[in-house]
Amino acid sequence: MPSPSPMLEYAFFEGRIVPFAEAKISVGTHAVQYGTGAFAGIRGYLDADGETINIFRLPDHTARLLNSAKLLRAELPFDRDSLAQTIVSLVERNAPTGDVYIRPFVYKASVQLTPRLRGMDDELAIYMLSLGDYLDTSRGIKAVVASWVRVPDNAIPGRGKLSGAYVNSALAKDEAEEKGGDEAIMLNTAGKVSEGSGCNLFIVRDGVLTTTPITGDILEGITRRSFLRFAADEGIPTAQRDIDRSELYLAEEAFFCGTGVQIAAIGSIDGRPIGDGCPGPITTRLRDLFFDTVRGRSDRYAEWVTPVRRRVPAAAD
Ligand code: PMP
Repeated sequence: MPSPSPMLEYAFFEGRIVPFAEAKISVGTHAVQYGTGAFAGIRGYLDADGETINIFRLPDHTARLLNSAKLLRAELPFDRDSLAQTIVSLVERNAPTGDVYIRPFVYKASVQLTPRLRGMDDELAIYMLSLGDYLDTSRGIKAVVASWVRVPDNAIPGRGKLSGAYVNSALAKDEAEEKGGDEAIMLNTAGKVSEGSGCNLFIVRDGVLTTTPITGDILEGITRRSFLRFAADEGIPTAQRDIDRSELYLAEEAFFCGTGVQIAAIGSIDGRPIGDGCPGPITTRLRDLFFDTVRGRSDRYAEWVTPVRRRVPAAAD
């Protein structure tokens, strides 16, 4: 995270809503020691009406989190809808006045020494923070191809948002920043382009919006899926196929996307300019569609938005 982001007052912890400061776990917790957790990152946007928080693709996020939990063999008393409803209740309770980022976390809660998945207590915690842009969305950012290889599916599955795997992201992100970049591009064990440290990647080649397939050691990003749909609806040709490193340097446009990143145009990769270094026409079109959707300025994709009316907490709350 760039600058310290203020936490909102309440969190969901061990089955109920508590003050964020009380949502604490033991240092011996299995998930802390071994990274046996899974998380989601969900954004809520302040609607153009100034009153409503629009949660983007909430049931898709809760479904993916439950799939990540399944990979961890975690058993939780939630389904996709009851988990979504729990998140809505927390948003209502926090009554945010601006954009928020919601972080649900499923974790192995036992204090236990053996690195295993079976036979342990599983818990769910959710907290929220105010969050603006994670990467600059207005200019072309600098991407660097990392020497750290994306962790393959047969080591730690990238399609689960598994906590321990983020050491891999952190190594790549540090490398990119230490080389003067903003974000890393990771290659997979086959040497093909996978994704960024916390985002998926698209390039435009010969007018075709192209991204790595879901079998390319990537997270099956919900923003990625949304942009593929926007493009299809706009008549922009798309392809999901392996991307070579050299294609990055020849792309007409390139951008990262993800819940935190939103859409960040790439101005250069390894110091080589992409297009004229500024957000290109396809990137700009997709960006406008995305922000019109999440800000409630267009109802074309209204089914992707869960609106939560801000309610002023009653004195008894
Ligand atoms: N890849 C990685 C490694 C990520 O952490 C994220 C952020 N969740 C993404 C891609 C983008 O996924 P989404 O659009 O679902 O946020």
